[in-house]
Amino acid sequence: MPEKKYLFTPGPTPVPPQVLAALGEPVLHHRGPDFGVVYERCLARLQEVYRTRADVLMFTASGTAAMESVAANLGAGSRAVVVSAGSFGERWEGILAVHGADVDVVRYEWGETPRADDLAARLAELGGTDLVFLTQSETSTGVVADVQSLAAAAKAAGALVAVDAVSSLGAVPLETDAWGLDAVASGSQKALMTPPGLALCAVSEAALAAAAGKTSRSYFLDWARTQKAQAKLDAPFTPATSLVVALDVALGLLLDEGLDAAFERHVRLGRAARAGVKAMGLELFSPDEDRSSVVTAVRVPDGIDSGDVVKGLRTRFGMTMANGQGHLKGKIFRIGHIGWFDVFDITTALAATELVLADLGADVERGVAVQAALDAFESTTPVA
Ligand SMILES: *Cc1c(COP(=O)(O)O)cnc(C)c1O
Repeated sequence: MPEKKYLFTPGPTPVPPQVLAALGEPVLHHRGPDFGVVYERCLARLQEVYRTRADVLMFTASGTAAMESVAANLGAGSRAVVVSAGSFGERWEGILAVHGADVDVVRYEWGETPRADDLAARLAELGGTDLVFLTQSETSTGVVADVQSLAAAAKAAGALVAVDAVSSLGAVPLETDAWGLDAVASGSQKALMTPPGLALCAVSEAALAAAAGKTSRSYFLDWARTQKAQAKLDAPFTPATSLVVALDVALGLLLDEGLDAAFERHVRLGRAARAGVKAMGLELFSPDEDRSSVVTAVRVPDGIDSGDVVKGLRTRFGMTMANGQGHLKGKIFRIGHIGWFDVFDITTALAATELVLADLGADVERGVAVQAALDAFESTTPVA
């Protein structure tokens, strides 16, 4: 097994050395003033990244806890619609089922892109929907949905809007306030370039007011308790203080680069990955469009199992890519390019994929993917 490791999955993602170094600092006490300074700055930076003036609530947990907090605080007795087009849409369904919501699903095939007019039509048909649940980047398929127009359809029907932005926050544009989003879930381990362990949820005034009228189904994930405590910079429970220190550094790096520059870089990384894959003669599973800039999902040639591609990359080169999830397991592999990535990560991933596919007997064109990727990355086509 090679000693050098490469992480090309859609989470966790590579962590910059400055962030890793911060993790090595002495542990801070969560009620001490030195932690308070970091906590305050980190929460303020999160508001910048979320583009919101609302509170961003933080839980020590993986991203799914931020999703579950929405259902735990708003779900009971509410009428919810989930837009579901992959594994993470189904996760919303599963979470809501636990928290006593009445759920209707606008369902798409995995890999399809949700449409605002479908949602609007369903909401009109149903009448009186309280909550709409969306997934911005459906990491299982590589599709990035148009959350702005989906949210507008939900708002027009008078519903609150919850968004899973776990793999997309910091990678693609997301305007919490300007798009009127009420609850936006994310996590530390994707575009925020920090190890796993922090769940984040921006909650609007309207969402907090709606939650105040209900009994929370979770003590740990209770929004009111967390919001009150955060307002005093006195977390309700012991936060993973070292992760907060690390996240603060990572957010500083992201904001120094500039959010718009980071979004543009992700678009170019997506272009590079898709151009390389196509040059090799492989077929894309994720859409061939600029918006799909978080994960590139690729079909394996007939007769090859994508599990063998993933295994070959790991054993020969120490590289981790992701297999398909659910019924796509064995059929696709996914190259994550979220967070701390540059074009040479893409060319490295492509060059190794070529070698492994050739090992497996696939008929791939060798030596062209790297050039195609570099050209696409440098292309002067403006990023929308
Ligand atoms: C990674 C991810 C999650 C959260 O997963 P955790 O393992 O709980 O952090 C949720 N939604 C999407 C779209 C994701 O990519």
